[in-house]
Amino acid sequence: MAPIVTRFAPSPTGDLHLGGAYVALASWWLARRSPAGRYVLRMEDIDTPRVVTGSAERIVADLVGLGLAWDEGPIAQSERLHLYAAAIDALNARGLVYPCDCSRADIARVASAPHAGEETVYPGLCRDRDPGRPMKRAPALRMRVPDEEISFDDGVAGRFVQNLARDVGDFVLRRGDGVYAYQLVVVVDDLDMGMTDVVRGADLLASTPRQIFLARMLGATAPRYHHVPLVVDAHGERLAKRTPGAHVRALREAGIAPEEILGELAHGLGIMPSGQPCSLRDLLASTAAQLAPRAFRIPSRWLAPK
Ligand code: GLU
Repeated sequence: MAPIVTRFAPSPTGDLHLGGAYVALASWWLARRSPAGRYVLRMEDIDTPRVVTGSAERIVADLVGLGLAWDEGPIAQSERLHLYAAAIDALNARGLVYPCDCSRADIARVASAPHAGEETVYPGLCRDRDPGRPMKRAPALRMRVPDEEISFDDGVAGRFVQNLARDVGDFVLRRGDGVYAYQLVVVVDDLDMGMTDVVRGADLLASTPRQIFLARMLGATAPRYHHVPLVVDAHGERLAKRTPGAHVRALREAGIAPEEILGELAHGLGIMPSGQPCSLRDLLASTAAQLAPRAFRIPSRWLAPK
């Protein structure tokens, strides 16, 4: 099998979350057990208003503290804007991009979310706009999507099918404030960096058909995807940022050893048969054939660290 190339792609908006560590360990393990595999660290600092100063350095230190070493990076998206601009030019040349000056309120007036709590489907208000009509504000750029089902087999979640026109609508590639959208930059980077496998949280499963479509329109094939269930507290609820023990740094400061954190995470990922403390060497000696992750329930002793 060709060498596996994976990445960990945190957004530097806070310390390394346990959910981030879960994903970081899973992608590290896939790359390291593949002869000549590569593991890349990418800082997703594209959404500058959300970036927290010092967070990238703290995430790097938190990963180093766990012993997870990467082969390339940290690569910052903020230094790759020329690649995102070129991708938009290429999509535009295929007639797939159009400007949109709709406000949230404009969209909310006519659109609805397919299911409660989901994103609103963009109703195509600017899709066929008269090019002579003046813009109300600096426009976003949207990607025209087809009325077509996109399906893929996720390594963890199984088969996933979505109709982009019905479930998502024409989505944003660049916001009105000039910030490139996550959906675009993640695809450009994963293709440019030669990713064979993407491991990330299950909250991004529904973004994947958009990314597969974008990759196709850029003339490439998307990587394999593995969407790992989210990390939950003792009651099975998604960890909030302020949950005690939600961050690796807080656990380390409470005296919990890296081996203990790795052991529990690796057990949750199906790499180790028990949650006993273990070293990275133990993880590489694992005979597990593949990732078999479940929702990682944070051990109760970590919720009330001594
Ligand atoms: N930066 C994203 C996050 O921290 C991950 C994006 C991805 O892995 O595709 O949630």
